[in-house]
Amino acid sequence: MALRLYNSRTRSLEELTPLVPGKVGIYVCGMTPSSNPHLGHARTFLTFDVLRRHLQSKGLAVTYVQNVTDIDDKIIDRARADGVSWDMVVDRFLGEYEACAKRLGLRTPDVEPRATREIPAIVEIIAGLIARRAAYESGDGVYFAVESDPRYGELSGQKIEDLRTGVRMEVREDKRNPLDFALWKKAKPGEPSWPSQWGEGRPGWHIECSAMARRYLGDQIDIHGGAADLIFPHHENEVAQTESFTGKHPMAEIWMHAGLLMVDGQKMSKSLNNFIPLKELLDRHSTAAVRYLFLQTGYRKPTNFTEEAIDAAAKGLRGLYQELDDLRKLPASDRLPPAAEFDAFLDDDLNTGGALAWLQTQVREARRSRQGSAVAVLERCLEILGLPPTAAAADLERKLGAGQLSDEARAALTKIAGDSVSTDTALIERVIALRNVARVSRDFATSDALRNALTRAGISVKDTPAGSEWTFDVER
Ligand SMILES: [Zn+2]
Repeated sequence: MALRLYNSRTRSLEELTPLVPGKVGIYVCGMTPSSNPHLGHARTFLTFDVLRRHLQSKGLAVTYVQNVTDIDDKIIDRARADGVSWDMVVDRFLGEYEACAKRLGLRTPDVEPRATREIPAIVEIIAGLIARRAAYESGDGVYFAVESDPRYGELSGQKIEDLRTGVRMEVREDKRNPLDFALWKKAKPGEPSWPSQWGEGRPGWHIECSAMARRYLGDQIDIHGGAADLIFPHHENEVAQTESFTGKHPMAEIWMHAGLLMVDGQKMSKSLNNFIPLKELLDRHSTAAVRYLFLQTGYRKPTNFTEEAIDAAAKGLRGLYQELDDLRKLPASDRLPPAAEFDAFLDDDLNTGGALAWLQTQVREARRSRQGSAVAVLERCLEILGLPPTAAAADLERKLGAGQLSDEARAALTKIAGDSVSTDTALIERVIALRNVARVSRDFATSDALRNALTRAGISVKDTPAGSEWTFDVER
């Protein structure tokens, strides 16, 4: 069955028909690393992660491009406020995002272009737009002339006349029409800059995405995605730039937008004091439960995040794993769950909520009717949703993700365990095993010394009847 997606451009459900049969190009607007990645980022990128997995499971060759806007006013402001260089701000917050993405099980993009490394591709389009009279140079930069594009406003469903009344002219900008937007910003003293025929400066935000999408996926692409709050002005402007330059319409067959994230029923914002950094959330909760929570809601609807909701998601996931574990103990059988039904949910505009509910029902049904062979089918479904196959695997992801040993801690633990273990996890498990031996032989002095060594390395150990559990301390 073919995949149908809601296309923001046509405001209707449409079947995905790849421009090149068998291949799908997806461009998703990525991070602007000027502050901590938050829960909203997780929601958007999880949506496109599942889209990508689903398309790949259908045998399509997907090229997934997710950019990094690594220069921008907010990055410059942040660098000034923190007294560091702009690229240190980028390294810090991009590093934080990448660590979180890994923990969430987001597959790495095929291409992760960075705006500052794509200046020639950006300059090429700006020069072309000037040559086509769709852009002009002024005192402080190069601007796109909105009135040159008869389609401007189509994506967001707005008319130029209506937009003009709502826009406030930034006094410092030197442009002909208040709606015109910057393609190139000439550098002010002390700002980071790159050379161009219009002098030293930096690209505007929108042109970066036009250039990167075109460079890696071509003049026209299958799916362009991002968060819903990017439709205007970012995506509207991107369309105007790309289509004015290439003369081809549409720039993207399908525009797909992930809904916003609410926290306790309100929009997440720093001013409301309900801003949840992603890292903090992942330190407190199982990453698989976070994924499960977002998948329960359709990607287009606003998701309301509450502590109760994440706890309920964790409980739902635990139940699923428990049933699966029981199912694994059953002998092989002839009957298999109708997996096509699972695919049909995802084909229906990525109905992950329906797919999860189906999974829960099927795993219970398979266990009740003793269909041991159903496990493989259900594990494939989990894989497409990006959920680990077992509770233990989900737990291990959490342990691995929460942190890594510092060089100092690794050296201290290696001294105890010997250097035959290579990974941090194996090293920690080895020290815990030694401690268990000490406990069993009632050598409490050694047992306590080993626990202290683990504590110094940032590892908490909890002794349970089933053995010792360990986690990285959250505050590390
Ligand atoms: Zn973008």
